[in-house]
Amino acid sequence: MTSGDPSFETLRLQQVGRTFGRQAALTGLDLEIRKGEFIALLGPSGCGKSTALNCLAGLLPLTSGSIWQDDVRIDTLPAERRGFGMVFQNYALFPHLSVRRNVAFGLTMRRLPKAEVTRRTEDAIRLVKLEEHAHKLPGQLSGGQQQRVAIARAIVLEPSLVLMDEPLSNLDAKLRLEMRTEIRRLHQSLGLTTVYVTHDQEEALSLADRLVVLRDGTVQQIGTPQDLHTRPVNWHVADFMGYRNLLRLRAGARADDGVVVEGDGLRLVATEVGDISEGADVVVAVRPEDVVVSESGGSAGLNRFPATVDVVEYQGRELAVEARMASGVRLHLLTQHRLAPGDEIVVGAPVERLLAFAAEEPSRSSADTGVQVPA
Ligand code: ATP
Repeated sequence: MTSGDPSFETLRLQQVGRTFGRQAALTGLDLEIRKGEFIALLGPSGCGKSTALNCLAGLLPLTSGSIWQDDVRIDTLPAERRGFGMVFQNYALFPHLSVRRNVAFGLTMRRLPKAEVTRRTEDAIRLVKLEEHAHKLPGQLSGGQQQRVAIARAIVLEPSLVLMDEPLSNLDAKLRLEMRTEIRRLHQSLGLTTVYVTHDQEEALSLADRLVVLRDGTVQQIGTPQDLHTRPVNWHVADFMGYRNLLRLRAGARADDGVVVEGDGLRLVATEVGDISEGADVVVAVRPEDVVVSESGGSAGLNRFPATVDVVEYQGRELAVEARMASGVRLHLLTQHRLAPGDEIVVGAPVERLLAFAAEEPSRSSADTGVQVPA
């Protein structure tokens, strides 16, 4: 058996699955990762992201499927033979070693010549901009600085793959943004193939070349940030990608530019995603930023209907507004109009921004995992 090859071209996960007792945490994951790609595994808590990462890392044996680096099967190799770098949310630094010695640790263990250890350690410390702190102990650093040490410790080994599990989740909002940029910058300069687990869609969209959206242990969609942002394949992905308004309506006849959807006193024309038969229950998804507001007096034309402002949240240039339609259904929108609770408004959305999905798409997950798809 050979070790994982640092110069691989593709890493393939084939029908990777993992069960815990009778529970399927991950089912039939097929994914091909190209060298240099940044892949984000995204999904709500418990969807199987960490399970997938741990299977890849060798920390968790698969219960089905296989993992290949080019034509070498690696899921049978122990974690330390795969040559992957890992960065977790709890930085797991050695508290009694300086930053420099923490970073050098893996190289020293490999018994590399001292001069090489020093050169590579100093390079990695410079990359994460910790030169001034190299002599300090982890306890003397901020959370963001400690996370940088953890990243330096992983990249100093020049791993063929870097695995990151929610590395920014313990940081405050400002540091998260800074570190996100830092991770992107490092990826651009080093081109290290990276698999990154997060439940934060914004983080995933801003960092990754491709995203894998998981739900109940099954892949829902794999695509570029733009694919997922503009063309979610089902309403679960839409929900996760920031389509905060999900209206449960019924499909009517085809219209010229879409499908008529009705219910709750609304009659809208929406863009059909997938096949929707007349009379079927649909979920119509629209993002808050795609809801257009005109103040009272605007006419109720196509896809325009009255609503009453309920809650207004100040968000700098925009207001995040929760409005109520006549039926009582709530609608979230972002607007630069200075609205106040109680205002009567007319809201609308263009056909191409209203996406109609079958309410119950045929789901592999319900069959494979025994998990009920919520109605
Ligand atoms: P989170 O974002 O909360 O970390 P996740 O998407 O990473 O969630 P996993 O940790 O992969 O989810 O867990 C997937 C499912 O498998 C969950 O339902 C979880 O309860 C279950 N699971 C994970 N690890 C174990 C374990 N060691 N034993 C039993 N069940 C487990």
